[in-house]
Amino acid sequence: MDNYRGVRTALIVGAGVAGLTAATALAREGWQVEIVEVSPSRATSGWGLCLTGPSLRALAQLGLAEACLAEGHGMSEITHVDVDGETADRVPLRRLIGARRPAMVGIARPVLHRILHTEAERCGVVVHHGLTVTAVDQEAELVRVLLSDETERQAALVVGADGIRSSARGLLGLRTSLDYHGQMVWRALVRRPSWGTGIHHFAGKAHTAGLVPLSASQAYVFLTENGVEQGILPDAELVPRLARLLDPFPGRAAELAPLVSASGSVVRRPVRTHFLQGDWNRGSGVVIGDAAHAPAPQMASGAALAIEDGLVLAQELGRHESVGTGLKAFVRRRTQQCRTLVETSVAIAGLEQVQRHSEAHRLADACHRLMAEPA
Ligand SMILES: Cc1cc2nc3c(=O)[nH]c(=O)nc-3n(C[C@H](O)[C@H](O)[C@H](O)COP(=O)(O)OP(=O)(O)OC[C@H]3O[C@@H](n4cnc5c(N)ncnc54)[C@H](O)[C@@H]3O)c2cc1C
Repeated sequence: MDNYRGVRTALIVGAGVAGLTAATALAREGWQVEIVEVSPSRATSGWGLCLTGPSLRALAQLGLAEACLAEGHGMSEITHVDVDGETADRVPLRRLIGARRPAMVGIARPVLHRILHTEAERCGVVVHHGLTVTAVDQEAELVRVLLSDETERQAALVVGADGIRSSARGLLGLRTSLDYHGQMVWRALVRRPSWGTGIHHFAGKAHTAGLVPLSASQAYVFLTENGVEQGILPDAELVPRLARLLDPFPGRAAELAPLVSASGSVVRRPVRTHFLQGDWNRGSGVVIGDAAHAPAPQMASGAALAIEDGLVLAQELGRHESVGTGLKAFVRRRTQQCRTLVETSVAIAGLEQVQRHSEAHRLADACHRLMAEPA
């Protein structure tokens, strides 16, 4: 295989986890990278993320795992608590970046974003905020891209990393459908209780809940609300409604409702998934991250897939003599693992809704082991 020797210019749509990671990985391979990000600022939505072993391993390859561990909260075990408030299981997680390093890290989204952004810019990536793509034309060697400020770019590679509702996907002529699974997920940023040093997962009679530490002082509470239509609630209803949903949980989980009531930071999102069947590329344009495959949050692995996509994309383009063959190799290498993760997350969402919690835990555990295999 010969290395690609043509023009190395890339335009990435979206400065999220996938876009920033791909940009850094490509820039380090000698690509000149520009990102267009529709949001006018660097602000992110959502409070916290759990980065699993594969995310940490991919971040370690980029030299960023230590920064995430320093600013987040490392942990290596999940505690499952049953509907009566008794500890049902403690599951040790595989440590993928060394026996003495944590297996995963809880981190605030704005912190992760800052780390990824800073590294991309240090590698020479230019990020334009408040800009999007309005048209994409595949030409012989280069892709012509029109932007919302009416300027034009020509690039050897266009990467759609613009999330589950990707516009780039449609502009490249790729079609998918988003599935809703009858669940809304809640997240609240709270003061970390003293026992909250690892992930806790609480099975409930109607819903499931949990706690993920983000730092010495902060954690996020999550709750998955079952059997509900998707819709938007007025902001003023978020805190009291989440506190009410948490009220029936016994044991340690009983401490979560007061923590939520004291928090001003609650978000509620529908559980939507999709997997792009067939090719993820058209010519020299490709989609990655949630734009190509969005799992349900129950596996806490969407960011892992997005970060691995960015790394593998740069590796395969570095190994092939044309962008087209590099993209095909990228899609071949990623399809099976991403499909398995999306399908497993959907199965877990189904099991949770019929209160088959121990089956859901076993399935999640088996899938985490599979995801620990190299990307
Ligand atoms: C409630 C919830 C909890 C989750 N928890 C976890 C977790 O704990 N661990 C985990 O690994 N994953 C988790 N995930 C999944 C994870 O957030 C995603 O998989 C991950 O963010 C995907 O990254 P991405 O870069 O592909 O997309 P995004 O993070 O959505 O980023 C897309 C970027 O593109 C920009 N954009 C959008 N449209 C355009 C456009 N037209 N033009 C230009 N820019 C555009 C957006 O503003 C954004 O900056 C969770 C998801 C949800 C919904």
